[in-house]
Amino acid sequence: MGIKVLIVDDNRVNLRLLQEILEDEGFVTQCINESTKVIEAAIIFKPDIILLDIMMPVLDGFEVCKLIKQNSELYNIPVIMITAKTESTDLKRALELGAFDYIKKPVDEIEVVARIYSAYNYKTINDKLREMAIRDGLTGLYNHTFLLELFQVELDKAKRINSNIAFLMIDIDYFKSINDTYGHMMGDVVIREISALLTDTVRTGDIIGRYGGEEFSIVLTEVTNEQALDICDRIRKNVEQHVFEVNGNSIKVTVSIGVCLKKSQSTASKNDIIKIADIALYEAKKSGRNKCEMTII
Ligand code: GH3
Ligand code: MG
Ligand code: MG
Repeated sequence: MGIKVLIVDDNRVNLRLLQEILEDEGFVTQCINESTKVIEAAIIFKPDIILLDIMMPVLDGFEVCKLIKQNSELYNIPVIMITAKTESTDLKRALELGAFDYIKKPVDEIEVVARIYSAYNYKTINDKLREMAIRDGLTGLYNHTFLLELFQVELDKAKRINSNIAFLMIDIDYFKSINDTYGHMMGDVVIREISALLTDTVRTGDIIGRYGGEEFSIVLTEVTNEQALDICDRIRKNVEQHVFEVNGNSIKVTVSIGVCLKKSQSTASKNDIIKIADIALYEAKKSGRNKCEMTII
């Protein structure tokens, strides 16, 4: 699919002209002539690039650019200002507000297309770097750092809306013996398969990450004790029932799970909760493994 460009200009003639240039180049476009509708349209259209006029009624391009850069779903989309304003102070202001580039009207066809490709290349590299920074290379789950960052965000949210939150610590049982028997690479295969099983078991939108070596964590928001235990049990059973094919051998693996469920009244911190989940995990291991232990605080 072609590069998606959202074109914003209050003047329909300008819109049509830009749209023709971009569609001739094979870009997929959407045009907006009311600046108040840009955020909503961008969230739905998910453009790769936004071309933004500056002089518009109600909200001008500077204000719209600011809103785009403040929006968690849109901030990474490069904004190219297209304007008849030619003062360098305007250019400075646009760049300070987070615009990626600035094109002066009247628009030169070759220039606008070239600048869109340049912004798109920047976005592609930026998106890739961000993915690498937040994901674990082996499993594709969130890495330790980002998992804990998201956990803190959800914890703050749970406090605001007075809801429960649960932190699950999941550890593969006797994993060392899998490595010792079948080799480290096969151990990696088991880690990857378990991470896929975990992803399949939770609701889309639940936060799931690789806490460390053979340990995974899941953050469950707005859950009751029963729901949290039910999810743990489903995870435990799904892993228990799964047959791992390793070097022509069919092997069985189990996991132990420690959970800390924080009620809305509790003021426990992120670290307190993780510590309590870890102790619950230790209890699950001690009481025989392939078990789930929950502490409610
Ligand atoms: P327990 O039931 O008590 O959890 O026993 P265990 O053997 O699973 O626990 P232990 O903590 O003793 O061993 C974990 C092993 O996981 C040790 C380490 O070599 C291995 N490990 C950690 N990260 C990786 C990885 O990325 N790939 C592989 N293959 N092994 C890993
Ligand atoms: Mg471990
Ligand atoms: Mg283990």
